[in-house]
Amino acid sequence: MKRFRAPKIRNLRRYIFIYFFVFLFIWVFMIHSVMVKMSSRFVQKSHITFGIVADVQYADSENGSDFLKKRIRYYRNSLNLLENAINDWKKSSDPVAFVLQLGDLIDGKNNHGGEASSKQALITALHPFQSLKSTPTYHTIGNHDLYNFQRSFFIESPVMNPSLSLSIETSPSSQHLYYTFLPHPKLRIVSLDTYEVSLLGYKDSPDDPNFLMAQAMFREHNHNENVNDIDGLEGLDRRWAAYNGGVSQQQLVWLAQVLRKATTREENVIITTHVGIRAEYRGYNVCLAWNSEEILAVLAEHPCVIAVLAGHEHSGWDYLDPQTGVQYVTMPAVIETEPGSNAYATARLFDNSLEIKGVGKVPSYSIKLRYHLGSKSNT
Ligand SMILES: [Zn+2]
Repeated sequence: MKRFRAPKIRNLRRYIFIYFFVFLFIWVFMIHSVMVKMSSRFVQKSHITFGIVADVQYADSENGSDFLKKRIRYYRNSLNLLENAINDWKKSSDPVAFVLQLGDLIDGKNNHGGEASSKQALITALHPFQSLKSTPTYHTIGNHDLYNFQRSFFIESPVMNPSLSLSIETSPSSQHLYYTFLPHPKLRIVSLDTYEVSLLGYKDSPDDPNFLMAQAMFREHNHNENVNDIDGLEGLDRRWAAYNGGVSQQQLVWLAQVLRKATTREENVIITTHVGIRAEYRGYNVCLAWNSEEILAVLAEHPCVIAVLAGHEHSGWDYLDPQTGVQYVTMPAVIETEPGSNAYATARLFDNSLEIKGVGKVPSYSIKLRYHLGSKSNT
């Protein structure tokens, strides 16, 4: 009898053992599901998410250095870093709705190979952005872009001039490279063209009033033979180099109108610009818009502005204005970022703040909204 019972008991133990583990697995799975659901209730989802990148300055060229021969420029690898940034945005569970590219997408040295070389570099550098398919990129024009092409090229290009490719608000005609759009009812982006009054990009239109004005203004301040030479200039006068530029009076009027409406509608505004408009960075002043005081005066009259994002000054810096609460961020350049690192950011709009999460060389920022979401009152 005992010889027959032993196998049955062993089988029974085996079944109990299996049932126990199946039960334990189901129990753990259920607890985990409940915890995930509970935690997602406490983690607020962003209302809109977008990417920010500046100064890719791609060229099919060996590494070089900046003007002072202090920092390496990784001309080919900058494209790899841009692709890495865009792949991260693609893989994110919180996909970007758009990308802000703050200027100098391709380097001036591409023009050494003529127009065909510049066009090839532009096609190559735009390709990663285009791989985002229906996610648009909003470009801001930089000096290196204008070393390759005239302004007319960008004005006529539906790829680089978003006002032509997308139904977004711009100035009275589309013959401008400044524009604004409203990606969320409480968030407005305003992109400035700090090369509208400039020595760059007017070779095919030498009688343009903005070019004539730029020449007159420039020669009042800088008498050096080389227009990029700031020798002899002191303090804020060091901004008078051809690699900087300014905005026209017409653009200032347009900016004031946009900001007035935005304030009335309680929209939080982010300004994007290639050349920075504040001079706090170590008293350096060599990457500063020619008429930055006029731009700042317009911004000061409108409380809707929460942040100003710039490129151009490659090491990157930031400044929080204690008077207005406006956060100024100059993005570190991709072109001077070593392989293996990166320099981009992802911004997320929450009820009370804009959270900018930097990657690699870019710090993170928490920017208070002027107008909270779901609220009609000023904060
Ligand atoms: Zn630049």
